Amino acid sequence: MNDIRNIAFIGAGNMTQSIVGGMCKSGYPADKVWVSNPSAGKLEKMKAELGVNTSHDNLEVVNAADAIVLSVKPQLMADVCAHLKEHVDNLSDKLIITIAAGIRMPKYKQYLGDDINIIRVMPNTPSLVGQGMSGLVADDGVNEQDKNYVTEAFNGVGDTLWVEDEDQLDILGAVAGSGPAYFFEFMDSLAKGAVELGFDPEKARAMVQQTCLGAAQMAKESDLSLEDLRKQVTSKGGSTAKGVEVYQERDLHGISADAVKAAVNRNQEMA
Ligand code: NAD
Repeated sequence: MNDIRNIAFIGAGNMTQSIVGGMCKSGYPADKVWVSNPSAGKLEKMKAELGVNTSHDNLEVVNAADAIVLSVKPQLMADVCAHLKEHVDNLSDKLIITIAAGIRMPKYKQYLGDDINIIRVMPNTPSLVGQGMSGLVADDGVNEQDKNYVTEAFNGVGDTLWVEDEDQLDILGAVAGSGPAYFFEFMDSLAKGAVELGFDPEKARAMVQQTCLGAAQMAKESDLSLEDLRKQVTSKGGSTAKGVEVYQERDLHGISADAVKAAVNRNQEMA
């Protein structure tokens, strides 16, 4: 990373541990990273494994930093922000990054002041293994340097994708955020299909997960459309064509479109 700032993470949970781990692995100096959490265990682990600065006091880490990552559960966000607003004078000089699901920017302005610089990031669980897909959206007025800084930080745990507005972030959340669950469901059903025919369950899982990984890798490395990639492995009249026909007859596309719509609607209901 080229742009090194003092950065504070409020909350030392799973996401913070993954993001900070990824940043440090990509060369971000640990002495520039601050993490706060009420309990000691996670902080001790992060200090021992990564060498970051830790504190039980959110204000201490915020005062030490130029960029703040709000990484507590959404239901705690109002209280955490109210505490910062009350005790930190120069919040508008800092870059605020929030990874909480479902809370929109106007709410943060209500909590922290209209003049904050804020970027919302929606990471997903594969970030925990360095294969995340993080969606990002910036408030009007956030400069390119700040956007690049956040892109580089989240590239430490996978890929990043900027979207235009918070509605788009809801769609991204319904695909990339919820998507691991859809893929697990699909993988499980595929493995069970093999088991029903007499295949060993452990071997079924191994074969399904590697096939999923391989297909994703091929898609990433190819310039072909997903439809053309599918056609490439589907010879006319062959066994794959027979399998694909079953999915098409049962309208897999329609099912997925409905799933995405249902998740977007739920996201918006909760916002
Ligand atoms: P987590 O529960 O693992 O971590 C939250 C941490 O915040 C805990 O360690 C908790 O002790 C700490 N905390 C509680 N009160 C605090 C306070 N007042 N001050 C400082 N720290 C406090 O949760 P997580 O999975 O890491 O999620 C963090 C955020 O990331 C959430 O807002 C969630 O919506 C968002 N997110 C998570 C995922 C995911 O896949 N886990 C995906 C996208 C977004």
